[in-house]
Amino acid sequence: PVRVRFAPSPTGGLHLGGVRTALFNYLFAKKHEGKFILRIEDTDQTRFVEGAEEYIASCLNWCGLNPDESPENPGNYGPYRQSERKASYRKYAEQLVKDGYAYYAFDTPEELNEKRNEIANFLYGQKTRMQMRNSLTLAETEVNELLNSGTPHVIRIKIPTDEQVSFNDMIRGHVSFDTNLVDDKVLLKADGMPTYHLAVVVDDKAMEISHAFRGEEWLPSAPIHLLLWKYLGWQNEMPEWAHLPLILKPDGNGKLSKRDGDRLGFPVYAMNWTDPKTGDLTKGFKELGFMPEAFVNMLAMLGWNDGTDTEIFTLAQLIAAFSIERISKAGAKFDFEKAKWFNHEWIKHSSAQTLWSQTQSLLSKYGATGNEFTFKVIDLIKDRCTLLGDFAAQAGYFFSAPQQYDEQAVKPKWTAEKAAFFEAFCTVINDGLNAQESESLFKELAEKHQLKAGEVMLPLRVMLVGGKFGPGVFDIAQLLGTRETVSRIRKGIA
Ligand code: GLU
Repeated sequence: PVRVRFAPSPTGGLHLGGVRTALFNYLFAKKHEGKFILRIEDTDQTRFVEGAEEYIASCLNWCGLNPDESPENPGNYGPYRQSERKASYRKYAEQLVKDGYAYYAFDTPEELNEKRNEIANFLYGQKTRMQMRNSLTLAETEVNELLNSGTPHVIRIKIPTDEQVSFNDMIRGHVSFDTNLVDDKVLLKADGMPTYHLAVVVDDKAMEISHAFRGEEWLPSAPIHLLLWKYLGWQNEMPEWAHLPLILKPDGNGKLSKRDGDRLGFPVYAMNWTDPKTGDLTKGFKELGFMPEAFVNMLAMLGWNDGTDTEIFTLAQLIAAFSIERISKAGAKFDFEKAKWFNHEWIKHSSAQTLWSQTQSLLSKYGATGNEFTFKVIDLIKDRCTLLGDFAAQAGYFFSAPQQYDEQAVKPKWTAEKAAFFEAFCTVINDGLNAQESESLFKELAEKHQLKAGEVMLPLRVMLVGGKFGPGVFDIAQLLGTRETVSRIRKGIA
């Protein structure tokens, strides 16, 4: 059975690359009728950030990527937070020591610092491990004494010399690493917590993970994980790996980072994130006015396509169309204008009900109640909205008469003849007319008053909405109804 996991560390807000990783895991799981699991990798206590786990869960929820198993909704493979699995890791680290694949290291932070000062680019590993204080260099009795007296120590993997470690990546194909370039990473820390490297292998095994999609930045860690799977004797149960292409800065120059968003004026997080320590706010797509459907659709197209020109997909369509073969190896440039294009397309093609459910808190401030009238307003203006927030500016005047007018647009050319024309128009317009009929009536009447339709069209718009914006002015008038239209015109000409 297919079991995949999204395994974020709760260290802050969720970058859009993280959400895309979750998405690809999700799509693959659903495509193969498997399970999508959320596992919180919180073994690094120094990087733990209050609220980050809840934030991750709400992001997934907003995107509609609900895990089948998670800390909140556990299945049979719990617990789903690594900190709560602490007890399960030590025995594997000890077993590796016993089998000669790992060793105890007793070096104090001061000793390590000394070495780092002494040797440039110091790496604890094949070249240096024999100069350090560990169970490879100390006598067995001494090691036992140190252990028995509770001396702080870590367990490190013993990376072999002159080996090639290789595997078949589902996206990249054959990938191979030279072990001489890999250092002896810590597996178990002095506080008894595993590092990411040990925990990810032990948990992928324990949770029977079949396939793992993660960011390309984890590729350099793959040889350590491969060796661990082998040394623990689980090689045949190792998941299949897929390292997803990076999401790049708009100019293609390197990985998109949180700071790029601040600099270039677009969000890089799914939702607003406030750092609990500094109080700094990093803006998110949700609060900026993205529909979750559009956000997910846009993310799917960063590094994947279905082989045709189709760009708009619902989540269900993505599941149906998803295939690993169509994930590209090359990084995907992030383009904020294109992201907005996705949102605009989604808004244009969504039903008024869907849009109401996502703009309710905004529009109810103007008095919208979600009735037939609200839906008609939404349908009339949605083509002009790129972000959900645009609905406020575009819809407000349907619910109450404008308080301010763009007087510059009308006043300089205002005449008594125009006022007379509008007064006459107020007496002939009626609810029996559709938008087209009102327009014809308006134009005929203008001609009778020896006015060009163009001269009175703009004043009409300003009287109805307050400025030079909005959809067709007769569509607006029709929706407002004769009473309201007449009242706004009379207020305007007064
Ligand atoms: N905890 C890692 C992260 O924060 C997970 C990497 C993986 O999926 O193996 O991205």
